[in-house]
Amino acid sequence: MSTCMPQVLLGANFTTYRIGGPLEEAYQPASEAELTAILKETHRAGKQLTVLGWGGNSIIASQGISGVTVITRKLDWVEPKSPTRIAFGAGVHMAKSASVALKHALTGGEYMIGIPGTIGGAVRMNAGALGQETSDLVRSVTLFNLETGSIESWQPEQLGFSYRKSAIDPQKHIVLSAELEFLPGDAAQISEMMDKSISFRKTHHPKEPNGGSVFKNPSKEMPAGKLMEELGAKGNWREGGVMVSPLHGNFIVNVDNGTSTDVLKLMLRMKRAIHERYGLDAHPENLLLGDATDEELAMWQELTAGH
Ligand SMILES: Cc1cc2nc3c(=O)[nH]c(=O)nc-3n(C[C@H](O)[C@H](O)[C@H](O)COP(=O)(O)OP(=O)(O)OC[C@H]3O[C@@H](n4cnc5c(N)ncnc54)[C@H](O)[C@@H]3O)c2cc1C
Repeated sequence: MSTCMPQVLLGANFTTYRIGGPLEEAYQPASEAELTAILKETHRAGKQLTVLGWGGNSIIASQGISGVTVITRKLDWVEPKSPTRIAFGAGVHMAKSASVALKHALTGGEYMIGIPGTIGGAVRMNAGALGQETSDLVRSVTLFNLETGSIESWQPEQLGFSYRKSAIDPQKHIVLSAELEFLPGDAAQISEMMDKSISFRKTHHPKEPNGGSVFKNPSKEMPAGKLMEELGAKGNWREGGVMVSPLHGNFIVNVDNGTSTDVLKLMLRMKRAIHERYGLDAHPENLLLGDATDEELAMWQELTAGH
């Protein structure tokens, strides 16, 4: 068994929404060996497993998460493999991976600078911005497969990347590390692009706790934020302690001790309004983790129906 001891932690402290109840049996492994020992034991005991990176895309249920929760943040090692290829531990923050690429004058990873998330979460979500995506960079992913109980190396064709989606099922596949391939670039240009991205986010993204884009864009021409603005939701629609951000129509902000139920209620109102006005189907980008109530599960089913 691992030397890493379980703790009861508060989910709200591990998600950017600052929402989430107790994590019943939480581990923060500091090495791959510790993580795999925990995963093997979880597999052997048949316990429920939840993996959490930075919590930048996750709505943790206010009732909390039963079973084992593994928080990967301490797995933040970086190992250059060649002049253009770098291996990252699953818990490396994306701002750190962006800085490492800049240090080596490598281009292709500028988008990572402003994204609150880990490499593991970015692979799972195929995170992207500035016209760049994680799938452009990934050359191989090392993961623990809970179905087989073994460590596997997956190549890009197995990872099934599409818009904010991959074949990684976090209940079965736990990303341990990823090798990313960049292109040689010009450090000054890379740095300039990153600075612009940071400035843009400072002025266009809310400061209150949030989980980034709530919905995937129904289409490139019809970004969800624009639709919500047209619907008058920006800064106006509210459920309990959460509201649609006054700065960005596709962001929900937690302004007054919001709960997971509040977020889901507001998401449902947004989804229904988009469907009624535009006939478009908005699919959640945010993910729901943990012990949802029956009411929350019913809302989540409607939110994800058909996907
Ligand atoms: C202010 C703000 C701005 C954002 N901007 C962007 C943006 O521009 N582009 C973008 O794509 N996203 C953006 N996001 C969303 C989010 O940051 C990304 O989706 C990020 O990749 C999530 O990574 P994470 O580590 O926080 O994942 P988490 O939220 O911790 O987890 C997300 C999912 O991945 C799974 N997961 C996490 N780690 C692993 C692992 N090691 N192995 C297997 N599964 C795992 C979890 O179980 C969960 O299902 C933004 C969020 C915020 C709050």
